[in-house]
Amino acid sequence: MKLEPNPIDVLLADCEAQLRRRGKDGGDSWCYLCGVSGVALSRCDCGLSESLRCGKSKVCDDCRDAHRKIASQLELMFMAKRTARANSRRSRLYRQIREACESLGPEGQRLRSRLGREACPYGDEEKQFRVNVLGAFTGSGFLDFVGLAKAIDEQQRIELAFAISRSGILDL
Ligand SMILES: [Zn+2]
Ligand SMILES: [Zn+2]
Repeated sequence: MKLEPNPIDVLLADCEAQLRRRGKDGGDSWCYLCGVSGVALSRCDCGLSESLRCGKSKVCDDCRDAHRKIASQLELMFMAKRTARANSRRSRLYRQIREACESLGPEGQRLRSRLGREACPYGDEEKQFRVNVLGAFTGSGFLDFVGLAKAIDEQQRIELAFAISRSGILDL
C-alpha cells in the first residue's frame, strides 16, 4: 500500500524550496526576490535595478510593486538635502526605513545595522549617501521588499495619525 504524503509535509517542503530559491536567478521559473513559482513573472523596472540587482532576473507582481515603492522612497531620500536637523526630510525617510526593518526578523536586522554603520543622514554628502545606502541593501543581501514596503506603510500611517492628532484638526 502506498501512503499518501501528509499535506502539511508537502506544504512545508514547498515553503523550504521557495526559501532556498530566494536571491537566485530563476529565469521564467521563479521570482528572484521571494522564490515563488507558478505565477506570472516580469522584469522589475523600479529605476534602481542597477544597484539593487533586480534588473537581470524576473520577479513576481507583489515583489515588483514593493520594489517600486521602496525605490521611490529611496529616490526621495536621495534627493533631499543634507542637514543636521533630526526632522529633516532625509533623516525622516531614513528613520522610517530603519524602524520598519525592526519588524522583519534577522534579514531586517542585518539591513538595519548595516545602514546604521555605513550611511549617515546627517554627515554624508549627497552622492556618498546614495552609495552608502544602496551598498547596505546589497551588502546585507536583503530581499524581503514586500515585508519592508508593508512595514513602511504602517510606519507612515502611524506618523500621519500622530500628526493629525497633534495638529488639533480633529479636536480629539
Ligand atoms: Zn516575489
Ligand atoms: Zn527593482
